[in-house]
Amino acid sequence: MGTTIVLYPSPGMGHLISMVELGKLILKHHPSFSINILTLIPSFNTGTTAAYVHRISATFPAITFHHLPDIPLDPSPYPSMEATIFDLIRRSNQNVEHTLLSISQSSNINALIIDLFCMPAKFVASNLNIPVYVFSTSGACCLAQLLYFPTLHKNTNISFKDMNTLIHSPGLPPIPSSDMVGPLLDRNSSDYTDFLEFCIQYPNSAGIIVNTFESLEPKVLKAIRNGECVPDGPTPPVYCIGPLVAEGGDGSHDCLNWLDLQPKGSVVYLCFGSLGVFSSDQLKEIAKGLEMSGHRFLWVVRTPPSNKKEDRFLKPPEPDLDLLLPDGFLDRTKDKGLVVKTWAPQVPVLCHESIGGFVTHCGWNSVLEAVRVGVPMVAWPLYAEQRFNKVVLVEDMKLALPMDELEGGRVPSTEVERRVRQLMESEEGKAIREVAAMMKKEAAIAMSDTGSSRVALSKLVASW
Ligand code: UDP
Repeated sequence: MGTTIVLYPSPGMGHLISMVELGKLILKHHPSFSINILTLIPSFNTGTTAAYVHRISATFPAITFHHLPDIPLDPSPYPSMEATIFDLIRRSNQNVEHTLLSISQSSNINALIIDLFCMPAKFVASNLNIPVYVFSTSGACCLAQLLYFPTLHKNTNISFKDMNTLIHSPGLPPIPSSDMVGPLLDRNSSDYTDFLEFCIQYPNSAGIIVNTFESLEPKVLKAIRNGECVPDGPTPPVYCIGPLVAEGGDGSHDCLNWLDLQPKGSVVYLCFGSLGVFSSDQLKEIAKGLEMSGHRFLWVVRTPPSNKKEDRFLKPPEPDLDLLLPDGFLDRTKDKGLVVKTWAPQVPVLCHESIGGFVTHCGWNSVLEAVRVGVPMVAWPLYAEQRFNKVVLVEDMKLALPMDELEGGRVPSTEVERRVRQLMESEEGKAIREVAAMMKKEAAIAMSDTGSSRVALSKLVASW
């Protein structure tokens, strides 16, 4: 019988892609394993994973996908998208068990790797004596915060959103309570209760795999390994195997031809992850700010969010730029800027030598994609753990300038202009550019044959 590693990402393309990259990494360096991936594709999710899964299966025969049976759920009564997904994951435990048993007929399962949200599956695997590892698709700073969260929970009975104070956690810069990881803000929400349950279970895994590298987050990794984040029990081994970045993207996209024509390091790239959206007023403020800055830009624009709750799982329509952007904006800026509708091939864009800076929502994949190629950032967080990441990027890593918002979250055009100029023209911009260049070198060293991320991967595999 061969040996296999089973990966179980939570629903959503981002989670799936990260896990597939982890599987590819394992296979590349340890080809004696096979990889089985459990996928949970909810019926209410209109995104298409089928084409992606098909492509990976065709290119990597050692990767096999197992689609867990869909459990029909009506998302409308749930308080949040996360709550729906967590319930689906819980209810899928029996299907996970069946699939693990079926895989074990033909292979020895050496480990099950789950992401944080799939924590309920840990009990299934433990019953089958399969060691469970957790894959943190955010950085070590976020991991530390989540590991320490049950301790913070015990020490207070006020919601972070109502505290108006700084939160001190081992290895981390002080975090304004309102910038804590999104789902932890409100003690009375179901997301808070779910996260608490997951975070309590986190240290009970056989190991934690993190998509980061040692020299990016040394202080917090030391605190985690010293056991400071889990004061009342042991901390499992932490394996930093990154930066793991999904290569690819449409290399023939028009925006890359446009970038070819721009001077080196001259273009500011603005993109806000797979879900980032702005109101039409905010889009107009960004447009004005970019125009006033006078700098070149490549900007990914999406249709503003719908107010209807039932639309939250639907793919939004293409944006109507003439309607959304200020009158004459596209014409006036046609020599300096390019607006791309909905989606740009971000990895090739960030690798392009004409990119000089990145206004980002601070999603961890975006951060690593920029760090890996030495692009300095302006941090404009929108959802999930992004406000937390912003504090870390600005205060600790010195890789980003902050985009400051007004009360209510609005960012005026003058702030957009100021930060773009600061990034591209000022001493502060120069300073973060230098740190970014240094981290690019560090990332390459970490991923080299004898680098820390390769050594961590070998140790992880040895533990199987
Ligand atoms: N992405 C992209 N083009 C876009 C927007 C996003 O290629 O127009 C990719 C980006 O390169 C990254 C992922 O989508 O790999 C977004 O992941 P991240 O963790 O940054 O944010 P999330 O979407 O999970 O909030």
